[in-house]
Amino acid sequence: MVVVLSASAYGDDDRILKLLCPERGRIGAFQRGGQRKPQGLDVGVRAKVRLRRRQGGLDTLAGVDLEDPRIHLRRGYGRLVLAQYGCELVGAFSHEEHPEPKLFGLLETLLLLLDALESDPGPAVLAALELKVLTFAGVGPALDRCSVCAGLVDDEMVFDPAAGGARHARCGGGAEVAKGALAQLEDLRRTPLRELVDRPLAPGLEPMAADLVRHQLGHELGSRALLVGL
Ligand SMILES: [Zn+2]
Repeated sequence: MVVVLSASAYGDDDRILKLLCPERGRIGAFQRGGQRKPQGLDVGVRAKVRLRRRQGGLDTLAGVDLEDPRIHLRRGYGRLVLAQYGCELVGAFSHEEHPEPKLFGLLETLLLLLDALESDPGPAVLAALELKVLTFAGVGPALDRCSVCAGLVDDEMVFDPAAGGARHARCGGGAEVAKGALAQLEDLRRTPLRELVDRPLAPGLEPMAADLVRHQLGHELGSRALLVGL
């Protein structure tokens, strides 16, 4: 079982697919074009695939059974771009030939939720997704403790995404941050996505989550720009 993370054209009618498998992690696969090309392998789709493994090269796609085509999420632009971003984000933190059951489960939860919604979710889902991906990838930011001394949050905290999140003002530099803002971020990290669909989010919190992702990766993901203004 895999989820399609991305599909890009290669040559005239071949494609390179990026897939996520709970057991194998991220997989690059070559999909031949022409009449043999299985249809419907779009971003976010869950499928059973048969892969022909090749030493030292990309696997070749040999067969596909679509399991969940996620038809509904393609009816809303906001849901579609959030699904694309979720796939790119989870893919960026997944490893090849390394089991990724937690990241797979999170992505599947997001895609099922987006496919079930009638309208686009609020920004709390996006911020929570980013915090959960970081956490499941093992690079979870410090939000309820100081990243330097591991002591509990107090009244004088600063935030530095390049240094792993929050820390005491006495333990290092960063932008001043309210205790309440850190508590809200920690709550987002721990709350299931489906409970956050309609939850309002104070301005400034989502950019903090986005900064943590950007600093961890060292760059901005391409599909994130599409989310701006939603
Ligand atoms: Zn400290």
